[in-house]
Amino acid sequence: MKTAARIAKLPPYLFAEIDKKRREALARGVDVISLGIGDPDQPSPDFVVDRLAREARDPATHRYPPYEGTRDFLQAVAGYYDRRFAVKLDPEAEILALIGSKEGLAHLVWAFVDRGDAALVSDPGYPVYGIHTLLAGGEVVPMPLLPERGFLPDLGAIHAADRRRATLMFLCYPNNPTAGTADLGFFREAVDFCRENDILLVHDSAYLELTFDGYEAPSILQVEGAKDVAIEFGSLSKPFNMTGWRLGYAVGNRKAIAALGVVKTNTDSGQFAAIQRAGVEALTNPGARGFIEKMRGIYARRRDIAVGTLTRLGCPVVKPRGSFYVWAPVPKGHTSASFASHVLDKVGVIVTPGSAYGDWGEGYFRVSLTLADERLEEALRRLATCVSW
Ligand SMILES: *Cc1c(COP(=O)(O)O)cnc(C)c1O
Repeated sequence: MKTAARIAKLPPYLFAEIDKKRREALARGVDVISLGIGDPDQPSPDFVVDRLAREARDPATHRYPPYEGTRDFLQAVAGYYDRRFAVKLDPEAEILALIGSKEGLAHLVWAFVDRGDAALVSDPGYPVYGIHTLLAGGEVVPMPLLPERGFLPDLGAIHAADRRRATLMFLCYPNNPTAGTADLGFFREAVDFCRENDILLVHDSAYLELTFDGYEAPSILQVEGAKDVAIEFGSLSKPFNMTGWRLGYAVGNRKAIAALGVVKTNTDSGQFAAIQRAGVEALTNPGARGFIEKMRGIYARRRDIAVGTLTRLGCPVVKPRGSFYVWAPVPKGHTSASFASHVLDKVGVIVTPGSAYGDWGEGYFRVSLTLADERLEEALRRLATCVSW
């Protein structure tokens, strides 16, 4: 059986070694604690679950949904952008419902990258951007995210040849995995850059609502004229603990929304209408803001626990203002992979090696805050027994 050459070209799966060690440790009876999983531990809101239970009984939801999303879901997304960011969107042409934002990010690449084209990709970054660029026959041009620049790419450093070849630029703030944040000034600079170079600016806003200490993250569409060059991807997964439901949206530039729609109509048939109606509930229920505030409080407390311990151990970690991750340098003498192996072997704790998110993630590891406080505290106690900076 022959598999396609494009599969063989993909970088090796960096979690394979960790997975193997994890299974071995579990078989030995070790109580493994994973700080590696970016998936909320808390349940979805009751008001969302109740709405799904009700809507699932309506036979009208049992048929194929409209491919672009149900009208009420598109309107709920428009209402959210208007209330939250004072951004007006046309539900008919500037919004598309997605089966999770990962699905949309992946399919967008197929609408914009031909062989010979390039994508400017934040590195370290969410793997989907680069992997689909490679699958589509394009080239990945990494934009390093470094602590000395606040994990913002240096747009001035992008070579002229890469500017010409690039059809897409991928940004994500609050960022996974670095937890960096961007202000409107940087977004403005990115919009100008993409306008000058005729590039579609893609902003992955999965963590937009997960911010701390009074900080509120901007939408890229708040930049004047952003819709001329930008598309923003949003998700109900992270703010509402709905990763299993698979519901997200794309908003912004009409040509990009239409092009993504062409790939999608020829690929999937939309998300279950009852789930879209539950998504309306998430975006419009009077309890929604309170729910998000509660989650912000939970993650902020865990962030303080993690940053506090790492700092005491001598780790020069930056206290994040957003996302539910802590991104920290590994101790001297370790690579990302050797550090991840070390803490799993010694104390049964899994951290994600930074190199799993790109070459510029080498030298770092990521801690996820999506586990109960006691388990997080226990994992950090164990780390303290076997590492120092
Ligand atoms: C979790 C995550 C997503 C995907 O979210 P879904 O809507 O569940 O597909 C997209 N981007 C980043 C950076 C993420 O961490």
